[in-house]
Amino acid sequence: MDAAQIFQRLAELAGAYRDGQAEGGYVTYLPPAELARRLELDRPAPPGDWDEIFRWVELYLRYSVKTGHPGYMNRMWSSANLPSVLGEMVTALSNTSACTFETAPVSTLMEQYLLQAMLDLVGFPKGSGQMTTGSSNANLIALLIARNQASQAKNKGLFAQQELFAFVNCEAHYSFDRAANVLGLGSDHLIKIPVDEHGRMRTDALEAELARVTANGGRPFFVCATQGTTVRGAFDPVAPLLPLREKYGFWLHCDGAWGGPVIFSQKLRAQFLPHLEKADSFTLDFHKMPGTALMCNFLLLRGNMGVLQQTLSAGDETYIFRSEADGSLRDLGTLSLQCGRRVDSLKAFLDWKFYGRAGFAARVENCLSLAEYAEERVQALPELEMVAPRESFNLCFRFCPPAGVDAAALLQAIRSRMQREGRYLVGTGFVGGELAMRFIATNPAIGRPEIDAFLQTVVQSGKTMLAEQAA
Ligand SMILES: *Cc1c(COP(=O)(O)O)cnc(C)c1O
Repeated sequence: MDAAQIFQRLAELAGAYRDGQAEGGYVTYLPPAELARRLELDRPAPPGDWDEIFRWVELYLRYSVKTGHPGYMNRMWSSANLPSVLGEMVTALSNTSACTFETAPVSTLMEQYLLQAMLDLVGFPKGSGQMTTGSSNANLIALLIARNQASQAKNKGLFAQQELFAFVNCEAHYSFDRAANVLGLGSDHLIKIPVDEHGRMRTDALEAELARVTANGGRPFFVCATQGTTVRGAFDPVAPLLPLREKYGFWLHCDGAWGGPVIFSQKLRAQFLPHLEKADSFTLDFHKMPGTALMCNFLLLRGNMGVLQQTLSAGDETYIFRSEADGSLRDLGTLSLQCGRRVDSLKAFLDWKFYGRAGFAARVENCLSLAEYAEERVQALPELEMVAPRESFNLCFRFCPPAGVDAAALLQAIRSRMQREGRYLVGTGFVGGELAMRFIATNPAIGRPEIDAFLQTVVQSGKTMLAEQAA
């Protein structure tokens, strides 16, 4: 088979898969051992046999989770936008690394173009940034920049340094704990600030911690305001942090992995993210709410390229990187932690051109209005209750437990039942010690009827399980 025939065959499979995503369950659920048997992973394949390859492609698609199915509401991402899927295919087809202009001329320019578009939207017109693999990585790099700006750690390590302290919302993403580990800060130097009843970092508590750390001789070097906490969807206000930054000189980062896309909508930007342009850095995931294929992220800095370069560039790179004599172009790999860089620009670029800012804004606004609708429905159903008030895109609710029934155990049981039936895959998380089902409507296959059907299924599953337990 030549390449054209192979792609022809794939095209048929791909089209049928995409168009049939809503059929049946979101998954054909099989226990791991049974799935392994069906996959025949150790089946010998004659070398060069394309029929065998397509057999596994078909098996892969048949038993994978259909993230575009309306029952898939587990995560912050779902099936990807088609323009970005095309972008991923073309990226794989041309297989290059986006670390130098020489090897990735088109990608380098597309990435720079997109970075500038995002910087302009945020209000960092003279800023800089890079595409990374996701907000975990972006948060790590932001911490690294802040650490190196505040100390001599780049050269001296953390030996004989003033003790450095970073501060985050206690419901911030775990990537900060991982980053504190990687960067040698240690978990004791990542201070978790308690939240108010909305899940927002308490400014008074932050202020007290900043003062305490400083009085003990430590250096507060980094504060993150999470813009859309992962479980609750709370937005930490930026304004109260500005005078504190003035006083203590920390780097102010905004983690908008989840809620960051509100910048596409003028209305929602004003409502959720005023003063973002005064932060030092910001991350937003294109692979979450905007629906671009995984992984796709922008880390944006208010400061210019020099900041990134000073803190990231290290070691002898002369064998690989070249720059234009007038400094107009830089190999993007000089600013990056890794050497080889996946091309993430094309898929984001195609989505950006296909939907435009207005299309992205409409998507984010729709996600919010569906969350509002789901909240109304939960409040109207006597069997369900909110675990915490809705802050934005996330709905944290549960089945009201009858007296003597453990609410968390019942909720987990309902979730597993819906999962194994292949009907719904939905997230859960703790809010103030209580387990909640977390509904979010990032999946474009979800509209009001799908929300109604989902909540009815939760109610029915809960009732059935309670009846079974009683019997
Ligand atoms: C998802 C999430 C992250 C991690 O982002 P990845 O792109 O998955 O690495 C970080 N912060 C918040 C608030 C998130 O919701």
